[in-house]
Amino acid sequence: MSAQNPLFIPGPTNIPDRIRKACDMQTIDHRSPAFARVFKPAIAGVKRVLGMGAGEVFIFPSTGTGGWEAAVSNTLSPGDTLLAARFGMFSHRWIDLCQRHGLNVQVIEAPWGQGAPLAAIEAALRADTGHAIRVVLATHNETATGVRSDIAGIRRALDAAGHPALLFVDGVSSIGSMPFDMAGWGVDVAVAGSQKGFMLPAGLAILGVSPKALAAIETATLPRTFFDFRDMAKAYVAGGYPYTPAVGLIAGLAEAVEMLEEEGLEAVYARHHRLAEGVRRAVAAWGMRPCAASADLYSDTVTAVLVPEGCNGTDLVRLAADKYRVAFGVGLGEVAGRVFRIGHLGSLTDVMVLAGLATAEMCMADLGWPVRLGSGVAAAQEFYRGSVPAMLAAA
Ligand code: PLP
Repeated sequence: MSAQNPLFIPGPTNIPDRIRKACDMQTIDHRSPAFARVFKPAIAGVKRVLGMGAGEVFIFPSTGTGGWEAAVSNTLSPGDTLLAARFGMFSHRWIDLCQRHGLNVQVIEAPWGQGAPLAAIEAALRADTGHAIRVVLATHNETATGVRSDIAGIRRALDAAGHPALLFVDGVSSIGSMPFDMAGWGVDVAVAGSQKGFMLPAGLAILGVSPKALAAIETATLPRTFFDFRDMAKAYVAGGYPYTPAVGLIAGLAEAVEMLEEEGLEAVYARHHRLAEGVRRAVAAWGMRPCAASADLYSDTVTAVLVPEGCNGTDLVRLAADKYRVAFGVGLGEVAGRVFRIGHLGSLTDVMVLAGLATAEMCMADLGWPVRLGSGVAAAQEFYRGSVPAMLAAA
């Protein structure tokens, strides 16, 4: 079939034509000055999106998972201690990656549907009087449960405890879609991927690294080669890469930042908030609720919808794919079957979201779930028609 539906998985996201065209370029010599002309605007643009102060941006041919590995392997040594809360599949996987690297992770377990528990984090930091904890890991937006954590609050906890640990933040499903303030929050490493807020295909791990994290490289002894920040920094000075870069994706990244800045980052965040709020109104009209336990935790990029007793979220996702050619996200780990996920990030409008909500309703009706066709769509329509951004209303 030539016609194609928008995606409602929480990344990879729809790729705008402008970005597709920017990626589609003839091969250039990545050791020539032509490469620097592609590369430098991408680096400068990512710094602005991250809200970075001093520090470096590194872009690896990889994905978010590679970004996690780059963060820890450059800054830590075997046996080093980290503090991390586990409240979903992605916070779990970063912990798992650290453990497989021979690191000692002090894990705070929290219920799935909750965010990073600030009081428990502060208590753990205060109890660590010898400052054994080198790094606090935080998942800004837990994509499995649709939960946003308070990164500024974690910074406050570190400061209140007078603890010198580095703060590493997974922003894979938030950066470029939800406010991110690397300098203001005192984030030492921020990890993003190309395939979510940046609207590109998967293939880039994007990291912002603070001067304090850069200093940690000098004493860190975990093995690293491909992800070595030092090789990357040295090559950057010469205008290039230590190996063959994904030139097309980097060109697309510069274009993505240009698109985000043309819309205005604040407007991008407001659009995501508005889209998400419409989805939440629909979920409430269905008589369901988000997996996120309270409104302050709601993610603006993904909603994990808790399905009624006796229903299975994975059935809906399968049916939507097979019958309507529409992709939603399945529940992962502890919430497998108990939720289905609606991704609402990247290149998306309210009209596109309405199509996704209508499809979800058709699937619910097909599956015999107790939901009236049109109920969620109508709730979202009412919200969207009453909240058209001033810029669009004036056009
Ligand atoms: N962190 C979060 C919050 C994610 O949502 C994902 C992927 O969905 C990852 C990390 C892993 O990224 P990747 O799949 O690009 O390796």
